[in-house]
Amino acid sequence: MKYIFADYHPLHFITTSPEKIEQLEYLNKITQGFLWLPKKIHNDNLSANFYDSSLREHLVNIWSNSKCIVFCLTLGAVTRLIAPLLTNKKTDPAIIVIDPAFEYIICLTGEHQHQGDKLTEILAELLSAKAIITSASSNLNLPAIDSFGYTFGWKKGEGDWTKVSANITQNKPTLIKQESGLNWWCQNLPINHPFIFGEGIKDNSKEGEKREEDFLKQSDDDFAKSIFTEAEKQVQAMVYIGVNKTPRVDIPIVSWHPRGVWVGIGCERDTSPILIENAVNSVLAQYNLEKNAIASLATIDLKADEVGILELAQKWQLPLKTFTSEELNLIDVPNPSSIVEHEVGTKSVAEASALKAGSWSNLPENNFSPTLIAPKQIFKQEGLKGAVTVAIALSNLEYNPRQGKLYLIGTGPGAIEYLTTAAKTALRDAEIIIGYGLYIDLIKPLLHPSQIIETSNITQEKQRAERAIALAQWGLKVAVISSGDCGIYGMAGLVLEILANQNWDGKQPPIQVFSGITAMQSVAAKIGSPLMHDFCAISLSDLLTPWDVIEKRLHAAATGDFITAIYNPRSQTRQQQIITAQNIFLQYRSGNTPVAIARSVTREDESIILTTLEEMLNHPIDMVTTVLIGNSSTKRYHDLLITPRGYLGQC
Ligand code: SAH
Repeated sequence: MKYIFADYHPLHFITTSPEKIEQLEYLNKITQGFLWLPKKIHNDNLSANFYDSSLREHLVNIWSNSKCIVFCLTLGAVTRLIAPLLTNKKTDPAIIVIDPAFEYIICLTGEHQHQGDKLTEILAELLSAKAIITSASSNLNLPAIDSFGYTFGWKKGEGDWTKVSANITQNKPTLIKQESGLNWWCQNLPINHPFIFGEGIKDNSKEGEKREEDFLKQSDDDFAKSIFTEAEKQVQAMVYIGVNKTPRVDIPIVSWHPRGVWVGIGCERDTSPILIENAVNSVLAQYNLEKNAIASLATIDLKADEVGILELAQKWQLPLKTFTSEELNLIDVPNPSSIVEHEVGTKSVAEASALKAGSWSNLPENNFSPTLIAPKQIFKQEGLKGAVTVAIALSNLEYNPRQGKLYLIGTGPGAIEYLTTAAKTALRDAEIIIGYGLYIDLIKPLLHPSQIIETSNITQEKQRAERAIALAQWGLKVAVISSGDCGIYGMAGLVLEILANQNWDGKQPPIQVFSGITAMQSVAAKIGSPLMHDFCAISLSDLLTPWDVIEKRLHAAATGDFITAIYNPRSQTRQQQIITAQNIFLQYRSGNTPVAIARSVTREDESIILTTLEEMLNHPIDMVTTVLIGNSSTKRYHDLLITPRGYLGQC
């Protein structure tokens, strides 16, 4: 599960007591972290690191190089150990404590900043322990206001985070002014959330409209600030999400900056780095734009080695996108220049590269074009070498610098207890879950309110796969779910096939497949041991496979005396196929061959009928049914089907 835990590295496990080593070794192995034990319990058989100093000193050594530290010690001991080292919420690692009985696991610090809460829940899953989550927002099913934007690559701006967070968790009306960026973060809010959505992106749910009406009715002008509409006047705190500088208001405010500002730069060779930085700062200030909202710098490829531009990209930690003169020449700009065209072969560098960079996106949402809000300006400054041109384009869709992942997860036949622990772990780690509505409903209890859920119609498999790939390439951790095993008539093949057609390099996005219990296994387990000898699965769906191929395989399975599980046996539009399948089997097998017709196995409406090949069509068969046909030695015994293992020649 290396991809899941990479985000929590460097991850350390520490215990001082020899009896706890086994469980920690187990966690450490799965998570590929560092296990630390005191030298005095050194043992060559242990795959661990040993520290020679006191634990207090050792902690000082690893502290600044840790994202998460997991202790198996008493809470009191851990509290005393870390107290002198805690300095800043932003930089302190997440501290997680497992109680010595391995029954409870609690996150002490770094709940949001380093996703300590999430790691706590994942480790609890692996240990079958109870996660204790104390952060108020999590318990109220509200987004963690000080960290939710990281998912989309947003940058945190200024603000009184403590007051605004407190306001939200105390359910006091809080204004959300979202001017740019995706609004997925507010799609699963609980009914009684405290947010009032200002102009910009709105809470369009019925509850949202009702809340807004209520506020309009009772408003009594405490905070009648010019930027607030009537509905917004009662708010006691504000969250601003946009590319501008944080608004000045008389209530506590925090801001998140989606990265939608694209800065195009053109300059003379060897222009002073200071002049370039001053110029960009000046244009940002003129347009009240926030530096944190910059997605990228952009220029012509001839300037890819321009020292001043590279220095600025490095100093502000921004990517630099470069384009050829041919690419730039295709962009319509308001201020083309024939001089520039003569010099570098395109009419515009700053304006065209800002617009070109801003039109980047692989998200399907990107059905708009960026706007040039700051046309080019030329800067020169006494005493500083060269000249620089700066232009800025705004795009509504943010650039996400994070690296996404794709988890292809089989959720088993239905009931949650049939999900593997690994699959549950991946589900918890995912930021967006994509799947057919019914399957998502079946695993709903495992999902977290902060996760984005996208359901789709059962027939939209290709769209689902393409969307999942695009979102992972954009920067999200995406879980695509299939019932049963995702690699057996599931989404895994489709996703990988599409990626292969896109010349995927096998690495970006990283992919991990999580197997699940497929329908035929869950059916078999309910009725004994019918799959005890060679078996096969055949899907009767001829939507993607020609019917003559399916018929050929039915003959092959029947002549080969394979126990055969028939998937997708019958739908409203495909009625004939199961009749043909029965006829084919009757050509080679006795009419008395035991058959199981298993519907909705492990789900609430489960039904299992044991019958024979001759009689099988007298029972209801539909799209949630698997038909299992025994081989020539499969026997019925009470309510079970038994296929002999073979060695004894009898059961
Ligand atoms: N990936 C799935 C199969 C999807 S194809 C898996 O590995 O199980 C869909 C078909 O699977 C259905 O038409 C039905 O034949 C079978 N199926 C899926 N879930 C089932 C269940 N709970 N009970 C019986 N059959 C099921």
